[in-house]
Amino acid sequence: MKASRSNSFLMVVFCFVSIIVAGCVATQPVSESVVSKRAQMHMGTLVTLTVVATDRRVGDRAMQAGFDEVKRLEQLLSTWRSDSELSRVNAESGRLPVKVSQETLDLVARSLEITRLTQGGFNIALGPAVEAWSVTEQAHIPDDRELQQLRPLVDWTNIQIDKEAGTIFLPLEGMRIDVGGIGKGYAADRAVEEMKRAGAVGGVVALSGDIKAFGVLPGQDGFPVGIRHPRQEGVLMTILELKDEAISTAGDYERFFERGGVRYHHILDPQTLQPARACQSVTIVAKEGTVADGLDTGIFVLGPEEGMALVERLRDVEAIIVDNEGTMTVSSGLRGRLHVP
Ligand code: AMP
Ligand code: MG
Repeated sequence: MKASRSNSFLMVVFCFVSIIVAGCVATQPVSESVVSKRAQMHMGTLVTLTVVATDRRVGDRAMQAGFDEVKRLEQLLSTWRSDSELSRVNAESGRLPVKVSQETLDLVARSLEITRLTQGGFNIALGPAVEAWSVTEQAHIPDDRELQQLRPLVDWTNIQIDKEAGTIFLPLEGMRIDVGGIGKGYAADRAVEEMKRAGAVGGVVALSGDIKAFGVLPGQDGFPVGIRHPRQEGVLMTILELKDEAISTAGDYERFFERGGVRYHHILDPQTLQPARACQSVTIVAKEGTVADGLDTGIFVLGPEEGMALVERLRDVEAIIVDNEGTMTVSSGLRGRLHVP
């Protein structure tokens, strides 16, 4: 999903701390259920699976099914792999429409729905601007002329999807689709489905800060997750029990550098092509990881007022937004669900 393999370790360091799954233990039988937890590196990030199953064999099978699904999606969607479907779409920009699987077409179409909901705040065409900043690799501040030249390339309205032909066309050479801002949430949804199909009765899929849970931990009401404080590393702001839902956080602390007292981070405002300035962190709780992941980035750009108004309009979507002064706002459906750490 990310630009290169070489930055994957850094990304673990920066992303892993955003949400911490609490209360999970490594392979331990609890009241006739077996709970196991394993971690692997995929999609340039740490993927941690927790499985609750009736016996160890089913648990192992579900664990394998979950990791296999994440690996399959990495192959399909990552743009740092030159053989992925989206890399082929990007390589043919300015030339030809490219035939892709229904799954890729659907994810791109769903991404564009979130783009519309967030008035362009979430933008899968933003890759050329993300690259110009290279926040983690180079700590480079591009000049405004350089950024303005990228404008037509990052205009998502140029993306052409032909549902009947099953193709995606990027009409300008240099345009790119990058689903890095939504793909981890989608992978969490899909991995959960495969773990259920393999017989797991509960579990958690966590791709760094993108987490989806199903069922409950034995003896508990769900799966407790902690949401970190955006300015105090290692400090949790609040804890919430996830139950058959997903959570995702976009934070300006995940990947950033500082210059002259200014923080330059990895979430760009598509209007200014500068790091978005209205929030420190946006956490979204939704039924689907795809929605939670796309919305956290989009609402981070929209800002706390418009962002919270959107959340209140959407069914089954809740949010915890920390604005640029550090003030936390919680959506109506989450009040009463948060615990002090
Ligand atoms: P996430 O991990 O969900 O917070 O997504 C962050 C990643 O999405 C960044 O590392 C960029 O590659 C990409 N990105 C940055 N800004 C945006 C944006 N406004 N819309 C969509 N993707 C973005
Ligand atoms: Mg996101």
